[in-house]
Amino acid sequence: MLNLLQQCSGAKTIGITGHVRPDGDCVGSCMALYLYLKKVMPDAEVLVYLEESAKAHYQIESVKEIDYNFTSKPHYDVFFCLDSAPERTGQGQALYERAAKKINIDHHITNPGCGDVNVIQPEIGSTAELIYNLIPEEDLDNDIAKALYIGIIHDTGVFQFSNTLPSTMIAGSKLIQYDIDFANLIQESFYEKTYKQTRIMAEAVLKSERYLDGKCLLSYFTREEMTKLQADSPDFTGIINRLKTVRGVECAVFMYEIEPGNYKVSLRTSDRVDATKVTTVFGGGGHVKAAGCNIQGTPEQVITKLTEEIAKQV
Ligand code: AMP
Ligand code: MN
Ligand code: MN
Repeated sequence: MLNLLQQCSGAKTIGITGHVRPDGDCVGSCMALYLYLKKVMPDAEVLVYLEESAKAHYQIESVKEIDYNFTSKPHYDVFFCLDSAPERTGQGQALYERAAKKINIDHHITNPGCGDVNVIQPEIGSTAELIYNLIPEEDLDNDIAKALYIGIIHDTGVFQFSNTLPSTMIAGSKLIQYDIDFANLIQESFYEKTYKQTRIMAEAVLKSERYLDGKCLLSYFTREEMTKLQADSPDFTGIINRLKTVRGVECAVFMYEIEPGNYKVSLRTSDRVDATKVTTVFGGGGHVKAAGCNIQGTPEQVITKLTEEIAKQV
């Protein structure tokens, strides 16, 4: 088991980053590690770098201390890359590469480990659970527990997906012993949507189309549609999971035109389809049942490329 304190011993500056368009696991695990290191290394300068993310994660008080603009750029003694390989951390990558010691902690099966020190455990459902395992119990507190809990519920679909292990439930049972109002946390950060998000989700469901005898359900937004809906990435959270709940669907796909002619693609699959086998063809990655990639082209071209790959498995 990695000893975080030992790894950071003597460090005066410690940076932490995670993937672009950070999700609950990314924000939760970065903030938990941040809070822990600040607590046990009060003399070190610790800073988290992330892109701005959905409001739901702002239930973690300390997110206001995140450097969203990547303004501060010292040479770090230790730099952590969480929930991702460094290539997918946007502006965080340069800071990571320049650091004296790089530590990569992740649970993506497609991440080979890109640090001087690597903790890559694809069998663990969330990076937050991994961080939970690395923080000594006596150092946990309400704020750290909340950040970890948010991370775990986001990546396990509130202890529902098959990446939920007995160890995940044990971690959850420990964390709800802290003062974290977990029922509200789940409601507000996982289920609750704004009116606008709800309408966008409805639109995505309405315009979804079936491929491969209904085994693949796909929906997408072009830039033009996004402008009309005034929608952007944070407005799309939950759409892919909703598409996956449709009976008979073995592979749900949601995609949006992140920049002209470039589609950000999300996949959620059942037991029979390995999502990473599809996304790695296009230079992406992820987990067996939840993965992503970017594909260039018109919607029709992207759909053809994708369904050809998915067809190999259904
Ligand atoms: P998403 O559909 O974007 O929510 O991603 C599903 C899972 O795959 C998440 O765990 C992501 O971190 C991961 N993922 C998405 N896109 C990529 C990518 N281009 N490379 C590696 N992992 C990805
Ligand atoms: Mn993530
Ligand atoms: Mn994760």
